[in-house]
Amino acid sequence: MAKQIGDKSLQKLTNLHRPHKELINLMPLQTGSMLTEDAKKALVEFGDGYSICDFCQGSLWNITNPPIREFVQDLLPKFLGCEVAALTYGARDGIFMVMHSLAEPGDSVIVDGNRHYTTVVSAERAGLDVIDVASSGYPEFRIEVNDFIPLIKKHNPKLILLTYPDGNYGNLPDAKRLGEIAQEYDIPYIVNGAYAVGRMPVNMEDLGADFIVGSGHKSMASAGPSGVLGMRRRWESKVLRKSQTYDNKEIELLGCSLRGVPLVTLMASFPSVAERIQHWDEQVSKAQWFSGELEKLGFRQLGEIPHRHDLLHFETPMLYDISKHVRERGYFLYKELKERGIWGPQPGLTKTFKASTFAANEEQLKFVIDSFKAILSKYS
Ligand SMILES: *Cc1c(COP(=O)(O)O)cnc(C)c1O
Repeated sequence: MAKQIGDKSLQKLTNLHRPHKELINLMPLQTGSMLTEDAKKALVEFGDGYSICDFCQGSLWNITNPPIREFVQDLLPKFLGCEVAALTYGARDGIFMVMHSLAEPGDSVIVDGNRHYTTVVSAERAGLDVIDVASSGYPEFRIEVNDFIPLIKKHNPKLILLTYPDGNYGNLPDAKRLGEIAQEYDIPYIVNGAYAVGRMPVNMEDLGADFIVGSGHKSMASAGPSGVLGMRRRWESKVLRKSQTYDNKEIELLGCSLRGVPLVTLMASFPSVAERIQHWDEQVSKAQWFSGELEKLGFRQLGEIPHRHDLLHFETPMLYDISKHVRERGYFLYKELKERGIWGPQPGLTKTFKASTFAANEEQLKFVIDSFKAILSKYS
């Protein structure tokens, strides 16, 4: 007999709320994806399913109203510094598409040791062996791109990938040098820019890469799930190859890629995203200043110093010590910060935490620094 769905369960779904909506947001996943006002309007306007398909004649990227064709065929290639751009459901989807198109099961890919888990899972789905280039380890976890060379010689990979920056420490390895290496050994090179594209200037051509991926819901102010994939023209016929039965449907995208809210919010935010990357220097100074102030409190910043990205990772032994003696255990920090209107460190964690300064202004960050001071003195 089928189980009944209870009324109470259904009621819970009709009035959903976010717990941290109005707070100062330091959560790295979220700071680059807050919607612009234009995106919020587009979200409501195109909220209905398939609403974007009014004028579709079989190929989404040829739709001119709304102006998807111009966005994909002109604006995105210029923005990414590539010849051909594609829309995907996220950075991971772009990575998988490229791996699946360029390599066969049993082939290998060489990736930096700070790679995101989605790189590994994409490779697994494509049946590939992943070889890591080790980082320098604690405390800076630097990737030396010349270390790719001996592994390239040894394993003859089908693809190399660099995470730029990585999502754990916000380190920016020498992506341009790796572009030279890729060209010298003639190996396709993919830059994972999930934390770069939409935050900072990054240009595939300048880096000498064959592919670049970005994440709409990480760094491009899109509701998502959404992503972008840029490539050199020579890869278009491989990665965006069409169905033999339907000659306008890309196989890797299962015939069509993102539509509706993920896409219109990406498009509506794009003018402001393209503008904000020009202020990247200010973002970097803000992150460095914030990091320096927290180090004065005894926190230790991991990753590259001086830091060149808004994603910061701190080691905080004194917060961990406090957590051992208080009733709330690890949750005391979350509670103390939330009471002050700050959302960021993962609830429950105190040994280390990640924070992004991208969305907060200096005044808000001053308040965050003062709050940490107050919390430390309260429990000392
Ligand atoms: C967030 C993140 C991803 C995954 O991005 P999606 O767009 O959700 O697929 C991949 N790589 C890095 C480095 C990330 O930080």
